[in-house]
Amino acid sequence: MALSFPTQIFPVYFNKFVVPGANMVDSANKDWRKIYPETGNGLSSWVLRSMLIIKGDSRILIDTGFGNKQSFSFFRPFQLEGEYQIDDQLAKIGLTKNDITDVILTHLHYDHCGGCLLKEGENIVPAFPKAQLWITSEQWKTALNPSETEKESFPEENIKPLPDFYPIRFIGEEGGYLPGIYFKIVNGHTRGQLIPLIRVNDDTILFGADLFPSSAHLDPDINMAYDMDQVLAKQEKARILSECINNSYIIAFQHGSYIEACTVSNPKGKLEIHPVKFHE
Ligand SMILES: [Zn+2]
Repeated sequence: MALSFPTQIFPVYFNKFVVPGANMVDSANKDWRKIYPETGNGLSSWVLRSMLIIKGDSRILIDTGFGNKQSFSFFRPFQLEGEYQIDDQLAKIGLTKNDITDVILTHLHYDHCGGCLLKEGENIVPAFPKAQLWITSEQWKTALNPSETEKESFPEENIKPLPDFYPIRFIGEEGGYLPGIYFKIVNGHTRGQLIPLIRVNDDTILFGADLFPSSAHLDPDINMAYDMDQVLAKQEKARILSECINNSYIIAFQHGSYIEACTVSNPKGKLEIHPVKFHE
C-alpha cells in the first residue's frame, strides 16, 4: 500500500501595492476602469499573495514578494504597507523560515523573487537557508541577459547572488518535479514563467502568477502592459483558461485585491467567475 499524505495549503500575504491601472490592465478595446476598480488619480490597488504547500516532509513556498534590499526611492512609488514580513505568518502554523524546503520562483521579476535574499544590517542573507530554489532555465537566462524593456524588472542584486546562497534546480521542461505539483511553462509575460498546478486532495489549484494575476486577466484580451509578448500571452491564456474550465481547476490570484481565487465556467460562451476563499 502506498503511503499518501494529505496536502495542506496556506495563503501567504506580503503587501498591498499601488500602480497605474493602465499598466496592470491593458486592453486595446476597453477602458481599464471598467475592468478593475480605480482607487484615484489613475491608480489601482493590488496585493502580493504567495502560497505555502505542506505535503509530507516538503514545505514549499511559491514566490517571495519584494523583499527589503532596494532603497526607499525604489519602493516609494508602490506605496507598500508595512515592513516585509513572513515570520509571523509562518509562526501561526508552527513554522519558521528554516523549515521551508523548496521555493518555487514563478519568475524573477522583483515582486516575485526579491524576498529570497534579505538585507540584515549591512549583510545579505538567504531568507530560507535550508531551501532549494526551482527556476526555469529559460527565465534564468532571460534575467541574466534582459532586453532593454525588461531590464528594470530584474534588479541585479535580486538575481546574480542567488547561486551563492541557494542550491538551484533549473527546469527545462514541463513536468512533475515536486510531490503533487506539476510545473507548466509559459512565455508571454516573460520567457520561462513557471505556473504550478497543485493537487490538493480532491482539488487542483492553478497558481496564476503573472499569467492570470487577477480575475480581470482571465479574459484573454486583457493583458498587463508588462507582458513582454502580448500576442503570445493572449494565446497562452486562452489555451490554459479552457483547460481550467474543462477540469474545474481553482485559479489562485497572486495580485488581484478583490478576488483571491475562483473557478470558472462558460455557459453559453460567457465567462462566469465563482470566487473561492482559502481562509476567512
Ligand atoms: Zn507580478
